[in-house]
Amino acid sequence: MIKVLLCGSISSKAYKKLLEYDIKADSRPLLEEKKLIEIIPDYDSIIVRSATKITKKVLDAAKNLKLIVKAGSGYNNIDFEYAERKKIMVQNCPDSITNAVAEFTIAQILLLSRKIIDSNSTMKNGKWDKDLFRGNEINGKILGIIGFGRIGRKVSKIAHSMGMQVILYDPYVNSTTMQNIFVKKVELDYLISSCDYISLHLPLNRETKNLITIREINKMKKSVRIINTSRGGIINEIDLLKAIQDKKIYGAAIDVWSSEPPKKNNKLMKFDRVISTPHIAGSTYESQENVGIEAASQVVQAFINNEYKNVVNNISAIRGLND
Ligand code: NAD
Repeated sequence: MIKVLLCGSISSKAYKKLLEYDIKADSRPLLEEKKLIEIIPDYDSIIVRSATKITKKVLDAAKNLKLIVKAGSGYNNIDFEYAERKKIMVQNCPDSITNAVAEFTIAQILLLSRKIIDSNSTMKNGKWDKDLFRGNEINGKILGIIGFGRIGRKVSKIAHSMGMQVILYDPYVNSTTMQNIFVKKVELDYLISSCDYISLHLPLNRETKNLITIREINKMKKSVRIINTSRGGIINEIDLLKAIQDKKIYGAAIDVWSSEPPKKNNKLMKFDRVISTPHIAGSTYESQENVGIEAASQVVQAFINNEYKNVVNNISAIRGLND
């Protein structure tokens, strides 16, 4: 019988889904490395959230483990390269989170345009400063999307329906994908210099670290608003803070940070015209429930149907799960 460990807060619907297929599922709260090492040898698969660290030591102890599923999009908590060396497949579940992040991004675009947060605070202090809080409309404005994957596409659809013109930069999107859609593909320099809003939806890697530095910011419109819900480190935080302080750009909404949580003295986090949030773009009740079901479905597909979805390590280096 296949045995799966569900570690951390995974929806109970995931547990039920596995039982439907006669897969034995054990739900455990968040486990420390030591405890995980103790129990992991029993399991063929594990479903984890970000808080569970799948380290080399855990992988060395996992004698029967064939599949790790990250119930979520990012998988920095899993040593997936070492897992590959041990021929353990790693999958993520990005689809269930897409809508939550896209809606959050649109909310940030609106918050950076209308002074809702500040006017709310002054009302709480008994003030009625009507003239201070005139905002901007997004209708007719240009939104630049960097990274046109799942979330970038969803954001562009909603933004377009709200009257925004959308352009994108993504060197890996081919022209077939672009047929019959309203979004124009452009070069990065053009996007940077012509947009009213720039939203990032790409992974952090060697190529994208510090993609936006003062060099790029200097080419932007002074009124530009930047939204980053992708990963910290893609925008250089020091350069961004300086640019907002010097009024080179209007402001930013930052959900993801180069170190999380950011250090207490992080000035960007505290600066006016920066909306700071603690990596919550993907966090809705709906996305958390759906991601558990998605993770359990991927376990079923892998063990019952030999179908492997959202594999993040090199699949050719890994044996089939039923071999
Ligand atoms: P995805 O893989 O579907 O899309 C990423 C896109 O980025 C791809 O189209 C890829 O071609 C493009 N890309 C890669 N390198 C690029 C480069 N150098 N320049 C421009 N584009 C490049 O990913 P997704 O599901 O849309 O997620 C996008 C980002 O959002 C990821 O970084 C993910 O970790 C992050 N995310 C954040 C949260 C949150 O809570 N804040 C939640 C989910 C996802």
